[in-house]
Amino acid sequence: MYDFAYHKPASVADAVKLLAADPDAKLVSGGHTLLPALKHRLNKPSSLIDLSGIADLKGIKKVGNSIVIGALTRHVEVATSDVVTAAIPALAYMASHIGDVQVRNRGTIGGSVSNNDPAADYPGAVLGLGATIHTSKRKIAADDFFQGMFTTALEADEILTAIEFPIPEKAGYAKMKNPASRYVMAGAFVSKGPMGVRVVINGAGPGVFRQSAMETALAASWAPGAVAGIKQDADGLNSDIHGSAEYRAHLVGVMAKRAVIAAG
Ligand SMILES: Cc1cc2nc3c(=O)[nH]c(=O)nc-3n(C[C@H](O)[C@H](O)[C@H](O)COP(=O)(O)OP(=O)(O)OC[C@H]3O[C@@H](n4cnc5c(N)ncnc54)[C@H](O)[C@@H]3O)c2cc1C
Repeated sequence: MYDFAYHKPASVADAVKLLAADPDAKLVSGGHTLLPALKHRLNKPSSLIDLSGIADLKGIKKVGNSIVIGALTRHVEVATSDVVTAAIPALAYMASHIGDVQVRNRGTIGGSVSNNDPAADYPGAVLGLGATIHTSKRKIAADDFFQGMFTTALEADEILTAIEFPIPEKAGYAKMKNPASRYVMAGAFVSKGPMGVRVVINGAGPGVFRQSAMETALAASWAPGAVAGIKQDADGLNSDIHGSAEYRAHLVGVMAKRAVIAAG
């Protein structure tokens, strides 16, 4: 690791000031993605701004017809939350399948969504439920937030503070995981509710995307058979040592069908 300064602000306002004052600063939440990057010298921030002391960024609450989850909420807290399980069981299920126990005990929803790893689970659920991302400056619809591999609409001096999930009528998630890391090879998050019918694919491509042919089919008939015959084009999907683009395209159809079965 390189040397860096370390700050632990107690409020979002103080964290924003520190971030604005240093263009080479990095925010850290759970550190499960950032710290390995620092150890491998892939990142060289001049200072780390540790968000873990900001109480306002923690917690899960039901607000009207939505569930609002603070950015610092860890995966294990979402997985075991009675509020999330009662309102959006597919979200609790998804969180319970991220990585392993150590990852779920350290990793946060804010860190995962800000990082937007193409193989991560949360971006699928956030876009699949049509969530709204709250930041230190504004609110951003999930449809406008994810902009491709490791890229989001967040500006350099902006902090993700919470995510607001509208409660769906039905939702389901299925993923084929990498057996070593549990990261997503291909996953599908489906939902029907106030944000319409959504089918979102994660892991398979360089970023999460909506599968519009499957959305149209499910809007006409919400049944596993509706998506079964729809083929995903392999063009533009990821191809690596874990699987070819054609394999991932096949998995998209299988995972979408399983996700609809899970949604009921
Ligand atoms: C072995 C292993 C297996 C894993 N398996 C999975 C898996 O199966 N599925 C999965 O989805 N993930 C997996 N992960 C990733 C894990 O979920 C991480 O927790 C997550 O990617 C990042 O969350 P974090 O809180 O640790 O973020 P950090 O590492 O603290 O930060 C990640 C990035 O986000 C930025 N950031 C952090 N918080 C904010 C904020 N509030 N606002 C703006 N920017 C912010 C940081 O500056 C940094 O660039 C795995 C990780 C490991 C180490």
